[in-house]
Amino acid sequence: MSLSVPRASGYRGTSLGAFESVWSSKRCFSVSGMRKKELRAMSEEELGGIKVQQERLMRDIHETCEWGVGERWGSAPTETGMSRLSLSDTDKQARDWFVETTKTLGCTVTTDAMGNQFAIRPGLKDGPPTVAGSHLDTQPTGGRYDGILGVTAGIEMLRTLHDNDIKTTFPVGVVNWTNEEGARFPISMVSSGVWAGDIPISHAHDLKEVGTGTATMKSELQRIGYLGDIACSHEAMPLAAHFELHIEQGPILEAENRKIGIVQGVQAYKWFTVKVRGADCHTGTTSFSHRADALLAASKMIIYSHRAASRKGALASTGILTLKPGSTNTVPGSVDFSLDIRSPDDSIVEAVEADCKTAFSAIAAGEDIDNLNTSFTPSSKSCTVSWRTDSNSPATRFHPTCISCVSETTKALFGEKQEELTKAMTSGAGHDSVYTSKRVPTTMIFVPSRDGVSHNPVEFTKPEDCATGAQVLMGSVLRYDLLRGEGKV
Ligand SMILES: [Zn+2]
Repeated sequence: MSLSVPRASGYRGTSLGAFESVWSSKRCFSVSGMRKKELRAMSEEELGGIKVQQERLMRDIHETCEWGVGERWGSAPTETGMSRLSLSDTDKQARDWFVETTKTLGCTVTTDAMGNQFAIRPGLKDGPPTVAGSHLDTQPTGGRYDGILGVTAGIEMLRTLHDNDIKTTFPVGVVNWTNEEGARFPISMVSSGVWAGDIPISHAHDLKEVGTGTATMKSELQRIGYLGDIACSHEAMPLAAHFELHIEQGPILEAENRKIGIVQGVQAYKWFTVKVRGADCHTGTTSFSHRADALLAASKMIIYSHRAASRKGALASTGILTLKPGSTNTVPGSVDFSLDIRSPDDSIVEAVEADCKTAFSAIAAGEDIDNLNTSFTPSSKSCTVSWRTDSNSPATRFHPTCISCVSETTKALFGEKQEELTKAMTSGAGHDSVYTSKRVPTTMIFVPSRDGVSHNPVEFTKPEDCATGAQVLMGSVLRYDLLRGEGKV
């Protein structure tokens, strides 16, 4: 594949096809004849007239997805997944493209000591940039949109500003965060975590790749030439605000026929390993009344956790179950299972945890909790239970000013259909924005995911939805810059 940078001049893609009609009722201001236009001098109508190009955005997505092509799921050329592991050779190709492309758009590109890439376009005044950020790495069997959309839409914003010679008051830019997926080096969002000061850089640099390889993050950063000499920190590379466009990775927007999720925050989660201990015994010679069946107790606990979470509007899930000895004719005496509790509200996660801790002890002792012993044979033997906390991630609340920039942009874009086409949402998954929100005003924008699928080759978001997301991303960044210019943030 040949990628020419910059793109052929004179290219004119279609703009937001699906929502052209939204604007057709108004006089659409054309910025095409305007040179060196200062954003702060523009009217609301002029701001709405600055449009991203759907066709150009999709070309960036699909051409750069030639680096790290994954499993094929359909017959069309773009119907493949992605397998672009962080700091691999294909990740280097995508990073090289990021540098070359943004430089031609007038940006200065800085790489920090975690390989995070910051492409910054100057404004009329100096100051930290307002950025669009996400990630170019994927899962080993990932898709073409998770992370990739957020970065390429940021680049489409730069292209649009460049084409129209728009002068923002302060710098704006795009960030590519390293190893967001945590698929190759096993900590998710590790490099935004280092930038935020939550993860020590030595710990991140020493992370070994998953599998039999011996490479570390630092050795791979060196190997592909992306170990930058700027410290990875919010002090060495300050940002003014961080906006992240991302696929929803869930089914809600599609099911409700909405176009944009206005993300309010990321839900809290706690992960536990629950250990249940009973006694191994023969399945044929030991009556029900003489068993300490660890799996039977664990099964009741898992059902209880579902009921406890349901009562509070939370989520509780078990994804790992390990039982010993693992023999058809032996009642298992030892069971470990994972428990993942989530809610947008920290106190609800704590309440479900406390409820389960009390109930699990009683269940292990053989008590009838929540009618879980109905039709069961009582036993003279009991089990014990213990908990280990594996992870604790408090709820993230995004910044009201950033959220309002997104909301105002959708109002200008969708007009009277804004309420029908948008939804206030909480992210169920973690993102780099969780870490950036600890240091700078941050929010996220979601677009629909087909069937709610992600981390899979069939992950898909319609081109018009990608473009609508990119339009809202750009509008939000520009609105934030306007507020800064007016001294309101
Ligand atoms: Zn992602």
